[in-house]
Amino acid sequence: MRAILTVLGSGTSMGVPTIGCDCAVCRSTDPHDRRLRPSVLIGYNGRNVMIDSTPDFREQALRENIQQLDAVLYTHTHADHILGIDDLRPLTYLHKPGKMPLYATPHACDFLRNMFPYIFQPTYKFGGLPQVDLNPIEGPVELFGARFEPLTVIHGDTPILGFRFGSAAYLTDHSHVPAETIEKLRGLDVLFLDALRYIPHPTHSTVEQSLKIVETVKPRRTFFTHICHDLPHEATNAALPAGVQLAFDGMKLEFEI
Ligand SMILES: [Zn+2]
Ligand SMILES: [Zn+2]
Ligand SMILES: [Zn+2]
Repeated sequence: MRAILTVLGSGTSMGVPTIGCDCAVCRSTDPHDRRLRPSVLIGYNGRNVMIDSTPDFREQALRENIQQLDAVLYTHTHADHILGIDDLRPLTYLHKPGKMPLYATPHACDFLRNMFPYIFQPTYKFGGLPQVDLNPIEGPVELFGARFEPLTVIHGDTPILGFRFGSAAYLTDHSHVPAETIEKLRGLDVLFLDALRYIPHPTHSTVEQSLKIVETVKPRRTFFTHICHDLPHEATNAALPAGVQLAFDGMKLEFEI
């Protein structure tokens, strides 16, 4: 089935430009150098599935004119991946009298319940709550005729999730990709990988480290994401090998799901 992936945000946790920073990328006039927090939207079969709800979700949804959201999958519970949960409200109301399903690991579900008690405690009576329903990810998630397979990646010392869906996979926030996940990335049309910058980082992949993954699994098209202000879009792309580019906010691509 044909699907469209939209990059809602391609930036690292602080976004680019970074508040208070005066570097060349933060001052750049190239719109590709403006990066909201990392998330993608996958549209297929008349449905929209999103991976992560960032603090920039409201702006992303308005920019892309998102009229409908059918499910959200979470990679992990760092602030840059979850803090847009409250702004899901208007789109969750379209699910009434039902709720919009969210999917996260059992551990991440507990974290979300503790972080946002007002959303998940049935006794909390203040109005205007996101109408969402947490579902634990304990294996592949079947959504609207497509299968989202959770893939374990290591983020610092913490195992978190990436997802493979059809001929595409989205791995954000990884410093190490275990061998069993590498095996599940073979034969891809589209692969998204974390590439924060050139300089090593304890919890994120670098351009060089992610290029090694590309050499191993040989996807047809690779896009780097979770990018910080060390990487100017145009100059970095010019130095990347064929088939590998930096993702940018608003980028859309077609693939088979
Ligand atoms: Zn992150
Ligand atoms: Zn900067
Ligand atoms: Zn993270």
